[in-house]
Amino acid sequence: MLEIALDFALEHCPAMLPFIRSDLAQFSGYAPHAEGETQPEQFDQLDTNECPYDLPPELKDKLAWQIQQQIQNNRYPDGGHGGLREAIAGYVSETAGAPSFTPDHITVGNGSDELIRSLIIATCLGGEGSVLVANPTFSMYRIIAQTLGVPVIQVGRNPETFEVDLDAAKSAVAQAAQDSSQPPVRLVFMVHPNSPTANALTEAEIDWLRSLPASTLVVIDEAYYEFSRQTLVAEVLSRPNWVITRTFSKAFRLAAHRVGYGVADPAVIRVLEQLRLPYNLPSLTQTAAQVALANRGELLAVVDEIMEERDRLHQSLSALPQLHCFATEANFIYAQLKPGVAAEADAALNQVRKQLKAQGTVLRHTGGGLRITIGSPAENQRTLERLTAALANL
Ligand SMILES: *Cc1c(COP(=O)(O)O)cnc(C)c1O
Repeated sequence: MLEIALDFALEHCPAMLPFIRSDLAQFSGYAPHAEGETQPEQFDQLDTNECPYDLPPELKDKLAWQIQQQIQNNRYPDGGHGGLREAIAGYVSETAGAPSFTPDHITVGNGSDELIRSLIIATCLGGEGSVLVANPTFSMYRIIAQTLGVPVIQVGRNPETFEVDLDAAKSAVAQAAQDSSQPPVRLVFMVHPNSPTANALTEAEIDWLRSLPASTLVVIDEAYYEFSRQTLVAEVLSRPNWVITRTFSKAFRLAAHRVGYGVADPAVIRVLEQLRLPYNLPSLTQTAAQVALANRGELLAVVDEIMEERDRLHQSLSALPQLHCFATEANFIYAQLKPGVAAEADAALNQVRKQLKAQGTVLRHTGGGLRITIGSPAENQRTLERLTAALANL
């Protein structure tokens, strides 16, 4: 909702608010839900890729007890996130299969969004660098860079596999390095697996990222790691210009608490720690993340069920004659209309999205396709039935 407010303010301000930066005149912020559309009261929220299940009651009780007995509400939170960084380092070591990570390798943000902003500030601000992304991808990289006046170079992807157009990426990097009128590429953002397209990085893409010079920071966003179970985190042990980001908003079921983390060489972490706001993570948020990590066996046990549901839904949706479902390594499915199904594919998909929303299934329409989060079995069944009916109407 805050994003919508920002969007509104910036789109309407330039004439009225002459003190606002002129480069924000055309700025349009992140809209978590389509604007001006009311949502039914009961709905299947399948547009933001969260886990469909809330915390189990005994973990909620633990958090309530923390508020009642442990947290001193009149005191600032632990500004160094000591206990949480320790717990995250242990988890990261476990996922890397190497006991090499310490709290010095970890920084924590108010959602990974905060880390994205710190990374852009640390590398590109003041005309020193530009950001490179491959569309379609997570839009916050571009949006945050634009709020900071940082140029964004956007390359495309293969329309079938969604592999990054590496030729375009390489020539964009070379061009920026040669052309003295534009800043060099200082920051490359890749999601692994990508959102909205759900594909993991290939060996060729990873090789290209490894080949980037030490003056370019490579950020691999592993928001969906617990679903894909693929990680490049061990790379940071030998590459001081790599950062892995992850979040508690997806498989760990803590989207309401806003917590993400970055893993990198301790020298990079020190810079990020200096840049961030002093008390960026509320006490309850830090506790919630620690409780989630301590109970990760129980929380992550539903990942297998979600992946089975995903495969089942993928198979059913792939059988629909109008839809092209892409391969997925995450807890969501990306699908486009097959050529010839509608004269205006985007208009048709928007109509489908609206029809489902009116029935209570909220999906995301982005990058020329629909992104469908895997929900509970009942939600997925409704998605299948409603989508089948809406597509038949085209
Ligand atoms: C959901 C998501 C995140 C999570 O962001 P938070 O700010 O931690 O909630 C980060 N990156 C990608 C690509 C995502 O899809």
